Amino acid sequence: EVAREILGRAVERDEPRMGVEAMDLLDAYGIPIPEGGIATDPTEALSLAEPIDGDVVMKIVSPDILHKSDIGGVRVGVPNEEVYDAYEDLVTRARNYQPDAEILGVQVQEMVDLDSGVETIVGMNRDPQFGPLMMFGLGGIFVEVLEDTTFRVAPVTETEADEMTGEINAAPLLRGARGRDPVDVDAVAETIQRLSQLVTDFPAILELDINPLVAMPGGAQAVDVRLTVD
Ligand code: ADP
Ligand code: MG
Repeated sequence: EVAREILGRAVERDEPRMGVEAMDLLDAYGIPIPEGGIATDPTEALSLAEPIDGDVVMKIVSPDILHKSDIGGVRVGVPNEEVYDAYEDLVTRARNYQPDAEILGVQVQEMVDLDSGVETIVGMNRDPQFGPLMMFGLGGIFVEVLEDTTFRVAPVTETEADEMTGEINAAPLLRGARGRDPVDVDAVAETIQRLSQLVTDFPAILELDINPLVAMPGGAQAVDVRLTVD
């Protein structure tokens, strides 16, 4: 199975943390992810970018750098003609930041429409008392500031996942505040359930965050992930 193989890579490298190199894990559980892939050199980055419509997002891929934008490791809106240089720039930044960081490559990803979407977070932490706790909340830069989150023990039912999307303080934002189109909350609830299934199937996953899961009028897309395995 794909998921087992991906998680096995972390064990093989003796590195408990994974970042966007684990994106296919989400895909294996039917969680929508943007088009893209991981390049290991600038030429490969360009061949990943070319079939993608419009500009792309590029991110450093390293288990040692899990907060990528903090070190300038995320470039949004990169046109094809800048992909080659952006690759080298991202690797240079990462090396300057942490010379011994293990760099797996650079992710090239389709742009997601953040203007029509809302950045949310879906995560899991294993609580010593309650077991796997699923978390849902407002994502992106607001998550720490607002602490607007809600929790359920995995595996969550469909009803529980629905409840979670409805009970954060920012729920009106999802339903379309101030003339904005409502986002697809069913797709968000579905993602919570699928992630809950993933962490139930793999007790070795100690914690996992999708941040952001971009909730849009026509669905939801996971654009970033980080996790820790036992
Ligand atoms: P990190 O959390 O490690 O800094 P992310 O992958 O979450 O890296 O990227 C940081 C921010 O960049 C996201 O919260 C989002 O606002 C933006 N971003 C990332 N990927 C995309 C994408 N594919 N399309 C549009 N915006 C993106
Ligand atoms: Mg992120």
